[in-house]
Amino acid sequence: MSDHLMTVYNRAPIEVERGEGVRLHARDGRVFLDCVAGIATNGLGHCHPALVAALKAQADKLWHVSNIFRIPGQEELADRLTGATFADVVFFGNSGSEAIECAIKTARRYHHVNGQSERIDVIGFAGSFHGRTYAAVNASGNAAYLDGFGPRLPGFVQLHVDDMAAIEKAIASPTTAALIVEPVQGEGGARALSGEWLANVRKRCTEAGVLLIYDEVQSGMGRTGKLFAHQWFDGCEPDIMAVAKALGGGFPVGACLASAEAAKGMVFGTHGSTFGGNPLAMAVAAKAFDLIADEALLAHVRAVGDRLSSGLRAMIERYPDIVEEVRGKGLLVGVKLKPNNREMMAAAREQGLLVAGGGENCIRLLPPLIISEDEADEALAKLDATFAAWNARVPEVA
Ligand code: PMP
Repeated sequence: MSDHLMTVYNRAPIEVERGEGVRLHARDGRVFLDCVAGIATNGLGHCHPALVAALKAQADKLWHVSNIFRIPGQEELADRLTGATFADVVFFGNSGSEAIECAIKTARRYHHVNGQSERIDVIGFAGSFHGRTYAAVNASGNAAYLDGFGPRLPGFVQLHVDDMAAIEKAIASPTTAALIVEPVQGEGGARALSGEWLANVRKRCTEAGVLLIYDEVQSGMGRTGKLFAHQWFDGCEPDIMAVAKALGGGFPVGACLASAEAAKGMVFGTHGSTFGGNPLAMAVAAKAFDLIADEALLAHVRAVGDRLSSGLRAMIERYPDIVEEVRGKGLLVGVKLKPNNREMMAAAREQGLLVAGGGENCIRLLPPLIISEDEADEALAKLDATFAAWNARVPEVA
């Protein structure tokens, strides 16, 4: 193993070689059922033939020009994204974190050009994850991501989603710029917010002139069975939204979507990115968008997600010492465990199943959206075998 990588990741002992659909092949010949999918990113599975073809065709034409020129692929994808959402305009970057940066900058600029430069505070929530840039870690407020990186940035307020009184008070503050929230928390452990919660926050933000930012980096692009998770509910649209992960089906791309009003401060020279919206990313993302924004695929996600969740719920009774709770939405599923989640992830690998970790001692199942019902059943069987082996390994203490 090379010593020449920064040791920031605790990597699973699998040397990956290739992937096909829901299967990930290791160099040593092992084949895994992949319910991580690049952390909810390979929405169409590994090496989807249509995405491979789009990438190859674009690779022969043009890779990169920067944003000094018009890039037709950007205009086409922006038309698709705005046509399917609340948004009027889009900025393309290369990752979720960059989409978040743009979202927060857009919100502060909005108030600045409105003559309210004192409005800088961004309300974020415990258990949230928005990425690893300075703005993203300050917005999420998770101490583990902030420790040792110098003083916290000013203008970030951390609250708990359960404390609505504090949320209403903070929204009403004259220095508040925006509230940022994941409609379904991903890394925090697949926690879905209710329609009432979102509608109330939407209403309060509108009343106070505060911009509502959704982080749909993980919950978006079909993951919950709607194109975007907030679209499960009426009257809950944001002013700004960060999208990434499955947008490119595994090719790096992120996008910050906004209403024309919210984006009015983002004029020439206020923001930019060298690689953002490059022709390769746009070609793959446009194809991925067409395949995901398809009602038949979204209906499939809802059906197979229900099947997976109900199979998992049945395990609460079968394995009361292991499974505590099943939560999430669509194919963003969290299983809160009693034994250590990291150890259980390793145990699942022994059964040929890859699952992701998550906050509150969860494991997350985030398979490609194209996972078939048979493959979902296979995931359940492998998890069942994992739990059974766990129980056999750890004798009950009297
Ligand atoms: N927001 C959410 C909700 C995420 O899940 C992630 C990544 N896990 C990010 C932002 C950051 O995305 P990236 O790693 O592409 O910067």
